[in-house]
Amino acid sequence: MLCQQLSAAGCDPQSVLVVGGGVAGMHAALRLSDLGIPVLLVERNAYLGGMVMRLDKVYPTDHCAFCPTWTTALACYRSALIQVALNTEVTDFSTNGNEISVSLRQQKPAIDPALCLFCGACRTSCPSNALLERDPQRTWDPALPPSMSIDPARCNGCGHCVEACPVNAIDLSRQEEAITLPVGDVLFATGFEEPKPSDPRQAPEFGVGSHPDILTAMEFEAWYNETLDAKELQTRSTGRPAQSVAFIQCAGARDQRHLPYCAAVCCMHAMKQARWLKRRNPNIAITIFYTDLRAPGAGQERYMRLGAQEGIRLLRARPGLVMASEASGIGVRYEQPESGQAVGERFDLVVVNGGLAQCRLSKAPTPPSESKPVHRCGFCAEPADVATSVIQGAAEAYAAAQRRRARDGGAQ
Ligand SMILES: Cc1cc2nc3c(=O)[nH]c(=O)nc-3n(C[C@H](O)[C@H](O)[C@H](O)COP(=O)(O)OP(=O)(O)OC[C@H]3O[C@@H](n4cnc5c(N)ncnc54)[C@H](O)[C@@H]3O)c2cc1C
Repeated sequence: MLCQQLSAAGCDPQSVLVVGGGVAGMHAALRLSDLGIPVLLVERNAYLGGMVMRLDKVYPTDHCAFCPTWTTALACYRSALIQVALNTEVTDFSTNGNEISVSLRQQKPAIDPALCLFCGACRTSCPSNALLERDPQRTWDPALPPSMSIDPARCNGCGHCVEACPVNAIDLSRQEEAITLPVGDVLFATGFEEPKPSDPRQAPEFGVGSHPDILTAMEFEAWYNETLDAKELQTRSTGRPAQSVAFIQCAGARDQRHLPYCAAVCCMHAMKQARWLKRRNPNIAITIFYTDLRAPGAGQERYMRLGAQEGIRLLRARPGLVMASEASGIGVRYEQPESGQAVGERFDLVVVNGGLAQCRLSKAPTPPSESKPVHRCGFCAEPADVATSVIQGAAEAYAAAQRRRARDGGAQ
């Protein structure tokens, strides 16, 4: 059930707290509820589903990412044993003997989505055009009721919308609230941190953020989806069709200076995006610069081979520099694998895969006791694709349930 307002009184202290409502966290919550265990599922976004909710299709099947993820989210909202807290972030947690207490920060939208009738009266009354038809974050999840939202950058705080609202859904003083709750067990499913161009861990030599046509994989996924109406993918700088695209793998990943480990999913999602491009425009030239092609899961090796057969060029080289100039587009410098010579090549669009960092709380949680360990599943336990994250979520849920049974049995 969707819980708009968290309070200590409304939460079962024996609940398992699942931190993170991506595919791993949702599946863990559902398996726990199947066993009759109450769950508090906390998600910092305004929607469930995590990263998968924002993908178009998923490798290795190329099936729709959204449909199964949304169905799983609906099952969580509908379960009587799962309390879903959106817009809520777990910031810390402490232990005292066998007791665990968790600190949460809940964002309170100025317009309460549970009350909003979506009538638009607030928008008509607003002198600064600050009312948005939908909370941009909520559009990811159609299971949530549509709600107006306020753009804080435009709102001048005049309060006309508060007077205009027929159901008193607007309170401009509403902000975030800190809450502390006792919980029975904790299971982390916090996934990964989305790489941002401004992230200092990004290797600067790849030029992410310096030119509109040098994109991260997530930016590319969004741009590709946004431009689906056009026959061919266009560059962001000129709007002309992109004729050549480079995917640069391990850009700062598997690199002691930035992200030391392999994120396990980037080779496959680069190939997925490359194959989409080829289907849309068979004449486009695509190069994937890779270190090792990693395709560990079922059907993934075949997926890679199909891409190569379709004409996607796979080049084992680690580019050292990506530079954009107005005259000659985006240049990529790399060492040619056969000759060892440094060469430069020009591309219309470059997608930089800088790896994905596991998302964990800044303070490592201390397990309260041996019978109450801290469980982790999904990407935050080990970089993994969707299928593995789902399986891990279920496995950790069963492990937590088993420990709880053993503990309760021992106490009787
Ligand atoms: C561009 C791209 C394309 C991909 N394509 C595919 C593909 O085609 N096929 C495939 O199998 N895999 C793909 N992947 C990998 C896939 O996204 C991951 O395997 C999957 O998202 C892992 O799920 P998760 O639940 O562990 O993590 P996430 O999806 O990251 O979910 C974690 C959730 O935890 C929440 N959270 C984090 N910290 C807190 C906190 N402190 N409090 C509350 N909530 C918190 C986050 O908001 C998030 O919603 C792709 C990844 C990328 C980046």
